[in-house]
Amino acid sequence: MPRPAVSVVAPCYNEQDALPEFLRRVGAVLDGIGSSSEIVLVDDGSRDRTWDVLAEAAGRDRRIVAVRLMRNHGHQLALTAGLSVCRGERILIIDADLQDPPELLPDMMVLIDQGADVVYGQRRQREGESLFKRVTAAAFYRLIARLTDVQIPPDAGDFRLVTRRVLDLLLAMPERHRFIRGMVAWIGGRQVPLVYDRHARVAGESKYPIAKMVRFAADAITSFSVVPLMASMTIGWIMAALGFGFFIYSIVGWWGGHTLPGWTSLMAAVGLLGGMQFLMLGIIGAYLGRLYDQSKGRPLFMIRDIVGGPNGEPP
Ligand code: UDP
Ligand code: MG
Repeated sequence: MPRPAVSVVAPCYNEQDALPEFLRRVGAVLDGIGSSSEIVLVDDGSRDRTWDVLAEAAGRDRRIVAVRLMRNHGHQLALTAGLSVCRGERILIIDADLQDPPELLPDMMVLIDQGADVVYGQRRQREGESLFKRVTAAAFYRLIARLTDVQIPPDAGDFRLVTRRVLDLLLAMPERHRFIRGMVAWIGGRQVPLVYDRHARVAGESKYPIAKMVRFAADAITSFSVVPLMASMTIGWIMAALGFGFFIYSIVGWWGGHTLPGWTSLMAAVGLLGGMQFLMLGIIGAYLGRLYDQSKGRPLFMIRDIVGGPNGEPP
């Protein structure tokens, strides 16, 4: 079976309302390109009619491959499932909510023709997203840039076109806590930005509530930096220096005979030290927990059905 020239891969979680418009626009873009193509859509354990929409679409359009996971695995793992099913020579990673315009595909193809390995979308503007989301996202990208040596481009999501070579390298990485945009940056090669404006969702609402955002940020930081682990060392040195200062101060005080029942300083020191120790233990726990998850070696995702495509059931 020859590979299609392009695969479009999108994870979908409760996207029944966004999908018809998504399929229409992506279909039109692929028609315009004219080469062979496929659209791999992963239903990440949706609770709405997403799977019915996907399976029905796979029956209508031979390019569509619908994949259903056993349960909700989360954005990054659902995307990984789609990436391991897709067969294209070039792979467009995109969200199903049309925040990122599929119409940029031809421009991305040109940049790959000119020798890029990865063309990533870099957001100039984010429409329809709350101030909170924009501020936290900006802070996150700046924090991660400070914590790691990998050049993870700021203000870029997973929206990108990658070559088969890059995708195979990505799929060879067995890590569970996946921060895909960082992993792609880590691979290297020639990575080229394409600036665009991010739009508001066509339908539905964000599937990234604050708790998921925090977990995503923690996965990104722990996957790409051990600086937090080292922080306990730095803080330890500072506390040791302060402690030594207090030690001298108390000896001198005792020498001079004016020691006081120092309740305040004692409480301050206990509080500060206790807080620091719990914080550092928490950081160690965050890494240890991920190490434990990884050591179990469970599959990253579990597929329930595939409809369409050469490896799937006929629709
Ligand atoms: N998504 C998913 N599983 C999840 C959460 C999200 O497959 O558990 C998909 C979702 O359907 C969308 C993409 O991941 O295609 C990005 O999610 P969303 O648009 O909600 O995130 P935001 O753009 O608000 O950061
Ligand atoms: Mg979105």
